[in-house]
Amino acid sequence: MDLSEHDRFPGRTHHYLAAEKLRTLVANWVALAAKQAGMKLRREIYESGDSHDVTISKICDAHPPSQSYRVTGRAPLQKEMKIARWFLAILCASATSLFAADELALRLQPALEAITPDGMLAHIKVVASDDFEGRSPGTKGEELSVKYIADQFKQIGLKPGNPDGTYTQEVPLAGIKSDPKMSFTIGDKTTELKFPDDFVASSARIQPEIKTDKSDVVFVGYGIVAPEYGWNDYKDVDIRGKTLLMLIGDPPIPDPKDSSKLDDKMFKGKAMTYYGRWTYKYEIAAQKGAAAAVIIHETGPAGYPYSVVKTSWAKENYEIDSPNKNMDAVEVRSWITLDVAKKLLADCGQDFDALKKSAITREFRPVTLNAQANIDIKQQLRSFKSHNVIGKLEGSDAKLRDEYVIYTAHWDHLGRHPELQGDQIFNGAIDNASGVASVIQLGAAFTKLNPPPKRSMLFIATTAEEAGLLGAKFYAEHPLYPLEKTLADINIDTVNPWGKTRDIEDLSDNNSMLDDMLAAAAKRNGRVMTPNSQPEKGSFYRADHFEFSKRGVPALYTGGGKDFIGKPADFGQQKKDDYTAHHYH
Ligand SMILES: [Zn+2]
Repeated sequence: MDLSEHDRFPGRTHHYLAAEKLRTLVANWVALAAKQAGMKLRREIYESGDSHDVTISKICDAHPPSQSYRVTGRAPLQKEMKIARWFLAILCASATSLFAADELALRLQPALEAITPDGMLAHIKVVASDDFEGRSPGTKGEELSVKYIADQFKQIGLKPGNPDGTYTQEVPLAGIKSDPKMSFTIGDKTTELKFPDDFVASSARIQPEIKTDKSDVVFVGYGIVAPEYGWNDYKDVDIRGKTLLMLIGDPPIPDPKDSSKLDDKMFKGKAMTYYGRWTYKYEIAAQKGAAAAVIIHETGPAGYPYSVVKTSWAKENYEIDSPNKNMDAVEVRSWITLDVAKKLLADCGQDFDALKKSAITREFRPVTLNAQANIDIKQQLRSFKSHNVIGKLEGSDAKLRDEYVIYTAHWDHLGRHPELQGDQIFNGAIDNASGVASVIQLGAAFTKLNPPPKRSMLFIATTAEEAGLLGAKFYAEHPLYPLEKTLADINIDTVNPWGKTRDIEDLSDNNSMLDDMLAAAAKRNGRVMTPNSQPEKGSFYRADHFEFSKRGVPALYTGGGKDFIGKPADFGQQKKDDYTAHHYH
């Protein structure tokens, strides 16, 4: 889960639980998450022989990676493939004898036995220990984490995942600490804003100073270009060099038949699409050549209060240190509070509510305000190397082994915060030592399969997820094996520690056929896959798999279920809310 929902309480759950109790909990996780979401899903692929694999492969062929955001909807072709797969599955099933099923179970047994509660716990205890100092990229915590995971990959029999013969992929990062000044000039009056109470501003460009003077301010509504919805908030207005004032979230368009709810046909109704994320807003601003993108903060559509924005953006943040020094990013990315925005608009003779109302129609046109923005950001920069850790299990089929299935889990967490009194280490036992442990255990399990899977498998512990999915982004931009040949990314980011559930939540929002496969795998295990219970939070866009999905690789991301066996009906939601309020970041 990423940094944008940062709050102050560490995720050091293991501090609060006696080891024995945790051991019992972990026993439950294993069955629940690692085996069910991972092993059993893979087993589904494995058991069904070529038919499912071929089908997934076809989807990949039909959707070569590109920059378009196809994750916002299912392509019709996928539906055709779905039907094709159904027929193939029937053919497969009719050819499977009971004897073959028994033989298969025997063959799988050693793999399933490789996943144990003690094994999970052992990894979590090491990776989330105080020695690892909260695993901040570029620190001693990174050195220890990378070494531990690489050693484990080697020990369980995975080959070096980097073709250069190592278990690591170097990820060049830049630390950027911004000290911004921002003012607006209306007529002959200039108003200074207060950092960080009124606004935050920074740049992904790796430059010591960013300066924008007297840049015209244009209100661009939600700042979205979405041809599939017939939507364009820029309509022929040249906004190069200008400062864009934007709303956060998707346009909340009422259902024409029932205005009490949102129109499911537009921006997925209540669910958040990628167009609603702040990352999208800054990306489109860069594409349009704007000088600055200023997002108006609103707690509801953002999903968190301004205090979260303030703590996230006022500290040092990381970017990938690209050869072009990120000069293709928008110069200035900023948030301002709703109150400041309302006052600015009022000073320009505009009304926030009226503008917002006009922005939820297709007819909206950008509104040039009689204001100019002056922004000056001094940036403290440092460059350092971080690492993804990668293990590989070579496929057993000569024809198919150059195709890949990836498991990812980020190893990094929030590190150590010396300004805190008492315990300063954010251990991140759940987020995401639990995911790292799962990936190591899954790797161990797959090495026990005989014969090994036909296709090759990659196990990747990514860096700098908390800073904006940077390790996954770097891998996806510099893949060690072609993305065209990468059939799936299955991402594990936090594992449910509270007990067994009847359900498993699919956070992938039905973006690929992997969701159908998860549903089938859950059913096979007497469980049920439930859809994302809070699609308005946009979870799918906030973890590593999204960097793969964005480039056309089918991705799967699951959450723990909510229907706990032997617990009251609201137990799951309560636990989740408690974690978000007190333990998450
Ligand atoms: Zn996470």
